[in-house]
Amino acid sequence: MRDHQEGAHDGHNGHNGHDANDARDAIEQAWNGVVATARRTATEGLVVGTSGNVSARVGDLVLVTPSGVPYDRLGPGDTVAVDLHGNQVLGVLAPTSELPLHLAVYRHTDAAAVVHTHAVHATAVSTLVPEVPLVHYAAAMLGGPVRTAAYARYGTQELAEHMLAALRDRTGCLLRNHGTVTYGSTLDQAYDRTAQLEWMCRLWLTASSVPGHTPSLLSLAQLRDVQDALKGYGQPG
Ligand code: 13P
Ligand code: ZN
Repeated sequence: MRDHQEGAHDGHNGHNGHDANDARDAIEQAWNGVVATARRTATEGLVVGTSGNVSARVGDLVLVTPSGVPYDRLGPGDTVAVDLHGNQVLGVLAPTSELPLHLAVYRHTDAAAVVHTHAVHATAVSTLVPEVPLVHYAAAMLGGPVRTAAYARYGTQELAEHMLAALRDRTGCLLRNHGTVTYGSTLDQAYDRTAQLEWMCRLWLTASSVPGHTPSLLSLAQLRDVQDALKGYGQPG
């Protein structure tokens, strides 16, 4: 990855050379982010073993975790990239089996990163309800009440299509009897949305497991109010 520096020093590196170097640096940086995020899903308990997958878009390239490789074995030299049609353009390891799902998100949204996990509480909720009950305003961070996509086998185009339907006007959804998908404009944002979704599912399971009680829910109007308020959330600027 560092060979481009020679060009920069011997005067043969014109405008296009710089562009190519910038592109390589962007890919290298994004790959490091993909690996770090995938490791985080494992260390923070959102997946077990090689479950789940992570991707990031750089221009017309999509960097994806390889299929079935433990994340702690991935290094800077293992970059896997495909184009938006799924043709592999970088790396020797086979891309994630959920490539159709990741590519569908990039083709239909402005996502720059996608995180798929088997987070246990979210997956439990995916077996129970078509939509996560509005127990908390955290749903606003995902664009509204989070839907559960109809079941289809992992890795299929059919699953990708069910997911797209569930993602309409949302930045995350559950996959029935399978797990979660969220996206964002950065890897951190996509990851945080997964963490919020898992937390909200855990909250609902906890509240709804108290015998003799049923959790109160927010109305859609209350949620819309939160969505407006969140536009000014956090630090100014
Ligand atoms: P990969 O190891 O192929 O990414 O598959 C994991 C997974 O979660 C499939 O749904
Ligand atoms: Zn999965």
